[in-house]
Amino acid sequence: MRVTSRGSSRRLECDTCGWVQSAQFLPWLKARDHLAEAHGAEAAPE
Ligand SMILES: [Zn+2]
Repeated sequence: MRVTSRGSSRRLECDTCGWVQSAQFLPWLKARDHLAEAHGAEAAPE
């Protein structure tokens, strides 16, 4: 999972499956949700 910041918006990219999501607030929350739902992982990314 990687987070790219550009101005006030952030772009989340999952290295594992190619999932991409833009998030203005709480990007890690969305990242965690994706990891939990798509990969069954509870751990924080990175
Ligand atoms: Zn993924």
